[in-house]
Amino acid sequence: MKHITIIGGGPAALMLAANLDTQKYKVTLNEQKKTVGRKFLVAGEGGLNLTFSSPLDDLIEQYSPSDYKAPYLKQFTNEDLMRWLKNIGISTFVGSSNRVFPTPDLKPIDVLSKIVKHLSSKDIEFRFETKWTGWNNKGLLCFEESKEEETDITVFSLGGASWKVTGSDGSWSAPFAERGINVLPFRAANCAFGVDWNKNFIATHQGKPLKNIALTFDEKVAKGELVITKFGLEGNAIYALSEKLQEALLNKENVVLQLDLKPSMTLAQIKKKFSNSGLSKVTDILKEDINLDRSTIGLLKQFSDKETFMNPDLLATTIKSVPIPIASVDDIDKAISTLGGIDLDEVDGNFQLNKIHNSYVIGEMLDWYAPTGGYLLHGCFSMGYSLANHLNSL
Ligand SMILES: Cc1cc2nc3c(=O)[nH]c(=O)nc-3n(C[C@H](O)[C@H](O)[C@H](O)COP(=O)(O)OP(=O)(O)OC[C@H]3O[C@@H](n4cnc5c(N)ncnc54)[C@H](O)[C@@H]3O)c2cc1C
Repeated sequence: MKHITIIGGGPAALMLAANLDTQKYKVTLNEQKKTVGRKFLVAGEGGLNLTFSSPLDDLIEQYSPSDYKAPYLKQFTNEDLMRWLKNIGISTFVGSSNRVFPTPDLKPIDVLSKIVKHLSSKDIEFRFETKWTGWNNKGLLCFEESKEEETDITVFSLGGASWKVTGSDGSWSAPFAERGINVLPFRAANCAFGVDWNKNFIATHQGKPLKNIALTFDEKVAKGELVITKFGLEGNAIYALSEKLQEALLNKENVVLQLDLKPSMTLAQIKKKFSNSGLSKVTDILKEDINLDRSTIGLLKQFSDKETFMNPDLLATTIKSVPIPIASVDDIDKAISTLGGIDLDEVDGNFQLNKIHNSYVIGEMLDWYAPTGGYLLHGCFSMGYSLANHLNSL
């Protein structure tokens, strides 16, 4: 019987292990922490989005590069994932934002436990506190404090490089680079970006949400929410633009976001509100007629001069497009996901490394991007599932 050694115990690896044919392969899963799925549990702290409910083509569009991810997402769609979860006792529901969550009776730890329980019904050997450190000069796998290992097939599923406390520390990049594999530098994605707030503004509005807004950068529009923080802005709308913002910051471009404070109204409708208002003070019109809250009005004041603020036409235009200069990006360790990792050109269509035969790489280790909202986990699950199918067919 051939031996498959999986290294890393995140969602991509768990889905792979769950679908491998254990009649055909002896399967060992090695994890450097005491338990598997630590980042999965962290993901659950703010509401565990397992996938996103939308037509498959729209789902695929969210990934970058989408043509790279498409075959795996087609093999294991959002519907397939929900069905798979249901079959192992994890029921899901589609939230109002079309994000898919486990039903409220299931905490993230329950979801993980059900996946692990399903795995323990298969003949898979788990080795915890087993850190892979590289290859020896004969090409054998090396683990900290245990002997070198010869195996038939190795699957690396070591994650990205954020939330190091969960084990996804990116330290794997050095041995890969030593073998001549192109590992692109890690950068934060789905993360906060820095804004140089005016001191008075931030003292009053720190922690306040900006709801139902739209952000535009480099022709990409993201609707959703933001939270004003001391550092800058965070929230799903800016996370969705993080890949493009990072690219621009890397190229040292002058990065300015356009914030639409009222996407539900057209410019003409806002102008009409000003001209039809019976109120005389601009702040009252903004509050009463246009329905902007205190923080939104404060933000509008910070990014418009006095002349604009007193001119209804200019102010209406600014409400639809407040220019927010982005000063920096937050610490990578706080990011929800990372860009960079193994260059996609280093693997074939079945995740096999071109330079190391019988070695495969899946999950966030590879250089792809998706916004938050369930796309990251689904992206990882679909890779694990697709690789299991491929290996089972060999
Ligand atoms: C705060 C937060 C919230 C999130 N929320 C969501 C969400 O709601 N929805 C969503 O879709 N995604 C979310 N994500 C992202 C999602 O959790 C990750 O994309 C996903 O966990 C990546 O899975 P993976 O299998 O590639 O690797 P990981 O989950 O990163 O797992 C990699 C594993 O490999 C192990 N490992 C690493 N190096 C070694 C080594 N040398 N030897 C042995 N083992 C090693 C690690 O200990 C780790 O257990 C969130 C992430 C964070 C941080």
